[in-house]
Amino acid sequence: MSVKYKLVSKKSKKKTTVKIGEISIENGSFAIIAGPCAIESLKQAQEIAECVKKAGCSIFRGGVFKPRTSPYLFQGLGIGGLDILKTVSNQVKIPTVTEIVEISDIALAMSKTDAFQVGSRNMQNFSLLKELGLTKMPIILKRGMSARVEELFLAAEYILSKGNDKVILCERGIRTFENCTRNTLDLSAVPYMKAKTHLPIIVDPSHGTGIRSLVIPMAKAALVCGADGIMVEVHCAPKTALSDGKQSLYPHQIQKLVKELGLLAKAINKKLI
Ligand code: PEP
Ligand code: MN
Repeated sequence: MSVKYKLVSKKSKKKTTVKIGEISIENGSFAIIAGPCAIESLKQAQEIAECVKKAGCSIFRGGVFKPRTSPYLFQGLGIGGLDILKTVSNQVKIPTVTEIVEISDIALAMSKTDAFQVGSRNMQNFSLLKELGLTKMPIILKRGMSARVEELFLAAEYILSKGNDKVILCERGIRTFENCTRNTLDLSAVPYMKAKTHLPIIVDPSHGTGIRSLVIPMAKAALVCGADGIMVEVHCAPKTALSDGKQSLYPHQIQKLVKELGLLAKAINKKLI
């Protein structure tokens, strides 16, 4: 086979379904993953998880190991946050995804969450990718902020080549000369990638724009351009959020967004999950 990303390529397989808890992320449906950027406390996580579940989202996100640009910013609750995530998941009955940054945290974190996220900053952390390839955990692999699509595919290939094919690719915006938004959300990469790989593709309109008012339009665009889901940041009190408040939706906004996505999904024959 001439392509560099043999296992990721559509030439090797037609379709991959990745299950997070009981939720199947795959071509033909549209999954909504929502929650805070970071878990801040049990109460904060419970409130947001209840809110997003009630709104119709099927997976809860929340970071406990936060790779922040500055060492002086909130770094996440760490291991203690994993217990909060697990408690909330059991109470609210919603599967979870959380970012993993260290190989040494994988074993413990695996017992506390249903899926891992590899963040933009770690897309080419090859030792982490290889180790995750040895697990059976679903992995949401986010595009590096300066990574080409081919580099994202090859990063995924690291995980698949170790035996784990439960990989979901996430377009989360790339760094360009444009600075009116936090990143430039590369939605054209979605149909491009759908044509080249069998792996499910989701979009993160929160980091992709960095601006709350742009999240809803870009989430809708993600559905219409063929993504298999979105990952959105939601907070009950974005003004006092410890990270990414400016791009976090209010509870009423996620409710509205899910309703609108439902109407759009019907129009293009996709199943909202
Ligand atoms: C996040 O999902 O909170 C995050 C840090 O995302 P990214 O790695 O895309 O910046
Ligand atoms: Mn964030």
